[in-house]
Amino acid sequence: MQIVLLGPPGAGKGTQAVRLAKAMQLPHISTGDILRQNVKADTQLGQQAKGIMDKGLLVPDALVASMLDERFNNADIKKGFILDGYPRTLAQAGMLDQILMKKNIAVDLVVYLDTADEVIIKRLTGRLVCSKCGANFHITNMPPKEKGICDNCGGSLYQRTDDVETTVRKRLDVYKNEVSSLIEFYTKQNKLHKLAADLDPQIVLGQIIDLSRALK
Ligand code: AMP
Repeated sequence: MQIVLLGPPGAGKGTQAVRLAKAMQLPHISTGDILRQNVKADTQLGQQAKGIMDKGLLVPDALVASMLDERFNNADIKKGFILDGYPRTLAQAGMLDQILMKKNIAVDLVVYLDTADEVIIKRLTGRLVCSKCGANFHITNMPPKEKGICDNCGGSLYQRTDDVETTVRKRLDVYKNEVSSLIEFYTKQNKLHKLAADLDPQIVLGQIIDLSRALK
């Protein structure tokens, strides 16, 4: 099953994607994670993307699409995937359909995680991310059992450089500019389901799993 998680930065896409991937035994594909790996490894793509990411802007569609196309060549997507952070523009949604069509598959379910701006600012400026497995924690709302250490895998936790308030607000603006066209695109395809993402993450996870089961 091919699942896309949509929503503003900080809506909990990463948290849900990690849990969903574990529950459904599907790979979690995050374009933000792949870009950050490239930045860390100082690849050509990483060098092109770093400044853009630090400003909270979008990396050009063509760069992200070719990166994703390459990721989809990995055999682990045979049973499906959880896509997090892509598409972010209408053009990306079209490119995704084209990439998947070449593989005779399509997006099955699009879950839109809806959250208020102030909740997002609080979540992101206090977010801690595992450098090893990508799991998310929060300084006050969801602290790890041991300071600086991931509960799931023991990896070290860090704060993302784009999780500072000015950049978070910019990312929100960028997101809002594009999201209505994406909502329209997936509503027309009859694939979009909106969920209130301010609830407990386990409740939201259960709702997404229910939606996916209803499609089987
Ligand atoms: P994320 O981890 O999804 O919040 O993404 C972090 C940053 O990576 C974004 O603010 C963008 O600069 C970049 N990025 C991630 N996914 C995309 C995408 N689909 N298109 C363009 N830029 C992206």
